[in-house]
Amino acid sequence: MREETRQWIELDQAHCWHPFTRQGEWCARGHEPLVIARGEGSWLWDSEGRKYLDGNSSIWTNIHGHAHPAINAAIQEQLGKTAHTSFLGFTHPLAAELAARLCRFFPKNTLERVFFSDDGSTAVECALKMAVQYRQQTGEPDRNQFVAFANGYHGDTLGAASLGGVGRFFERFRGTGYPVRHVSSIRDLESLPSEKIAGVIIEPLIQGVNEMRPWPAGMLAELRTWCDENGVHLILDEVMTGFGRTGTMFACQQENVIPDFLCLAKGLTGGYLPLAATLTTGKIYDAFLGAPEKAFYYGHSYTANLLGCAAAIASLDVFESEKTLAHLPEKISRLTTGLASLKSRQPLVHEIRQCGFIAGLELRRPDGEQFPPGERFGESVCLAARDHGLLTRSILDTVVLMLPLSSSIDEIDHAINALDAALS
Ligand code: PMP
Repeated sequence: MREETRQWIELDQAHCWHPFTRQGEWCARGHEPLVIARGEGSWLWDSEGRKYLDGNSSIWTNIHGHAHPAINAAIQEQLGKTAHTSFLGFTHPLAAELAARLCRFFPKNTLERVFFSDDGSTAVECALKMAVQYRQQTGEPDRNQFVAFANGYHGDTLGAASLGGVGRFFERFRGTGYPVRHVSSIRDLESLPSEKIAGVIIEPLIQGVNEMRPWPAGMLAELRTWCDENGVHLILDEVMTGFGRTGTMFACQQENVIPDFLCLAKGLTGGYLPLAATLTTGKIYDAFLGAPEKAFYYGHSYTANLLGCAAAIASLDVFESEKTLAHLPEKISRLTTGLASLKSRQPLVHEIRQCGFIAGLELRRPDGEQFPPGERFGESVCLAARDHGLLTRSILDTVVLMLPLSSSIDEIDHAINALDAALS
C-alpha cells in the first residue's frame, strides 16, 4: 500500500464517522477501506490505481458518468462567476431556468412550483411541512396525519425518518418523531379514517432500501384514485427513481400519475452536487398567499445553490444531447437477459428484481432458505466483486446493481460477469 493511502486511512479512522457504518469494524486493525481517488465515465479508481465499475452509481446518484465534460464545464463556468449566493431575498438565472425546466416535464396547470433544498431528506421534509400548513390554511387543521408504506425509506432527518418503515433504522426514534401510520397495501388504506390524513407518501414503482421491491403494476394509479376520492394529497418520493432510472424521466409517468408533491434529489444534478427540489401544484401554492403568516417559513442556507443548479441544468441538457432515455430500452433489456442468464448459472441467486435500469439480486442458499443474518453473505459477495472490478453494496442479502445510465453494453456485461465471478 502506498504511504499516502495509509495516511488517509489513518486520518479517516481517527476522525471520520461514516453513514450507516459499524464504526468498530471500520476502525478495526486490519480493515483497509478503499480510498476513492477519481472517476471517469462509469469507472472509479482507488488510491492504489485499481479500477472499478461504479455498480451503485455512487449511492444511486450518478446519471451520465463521472467527470462528464459538459457537466464539469458548466460547474467550472459558474464557479468562475460565484459559487453560492442567498436565495432568500434574491433570485438567480439558474434557479429560475431550472425550476421552469423541471415543471415542463409535467402538463400545464399541474406541478408548477419548485422549492429547492439540499438532499432527499429535506425534499421530503419540505413536502411534509407544506402539506400540514396547507391544511391549516384551508380550514382542515385536523387533517395532519401521514400514511407511509411498510418498509419504505424516505430519508434520515426526523420528519422523513418518521415516515420510514424499516424497523432496524427507525424504530428507536418512533417516540420522538411525527405520528405516521404504516400500511402494506391500498386495501389497508381503505380501513383507515381518511378524514385525518393529510397525505400518503410512496416510492413509486419500486421501494429501494426495501431490497429493491417493485410494486404491482397499476398500484400507483390506484393509489392516485384513492387519494382523489378521499381528499388526501399524494406525495411521491422519486429521490431514487427520478431522472431516468426506471426507464422514463420520472417513475410516475409510467402510470400517468401526477402527484400533489414530487420529491427529487440524488440524480437531479447528475450526481455531482447536493441539490433537491420539491415540486407542487398551483392550487397548493396559492394557499400560502395573502396574510404574512400564511407564508412558508422554511429554508436552508444552501437553497438553490448556484453550482448545484448549474450541474442540474447541464445534466438535463445531456439527457437531450446524448438521447439518454432513447438509449435506455436496449440497455435495460441487456441487463434483463444478462441477469436471467446469471441466475440460471448461479444457484445462490434466488430472485432478480428489476425496474428499468435498477436491479436487485436476492441471494439465498440453494435450498431457498435465507442465509443467517450474521453471515452477511450479500456483503461478502460485494467484497469479492471488487476483485473483479465492480463496486456495489448489498442491502441485507440483496446485491444492488444500479449503473450510471450512460453505461455501455460492454459495461453492463462487465458488471454481470464480475457478479458471476464473485458468486463462483
Ligand atoms: N428517499 C429515497 C427513496 C431514498 O432512496 C433516499 C436515499 N437513499 C432518500 C429519500 C434520502 O435521500 P438523502 O440521502 O439524499 O437524504
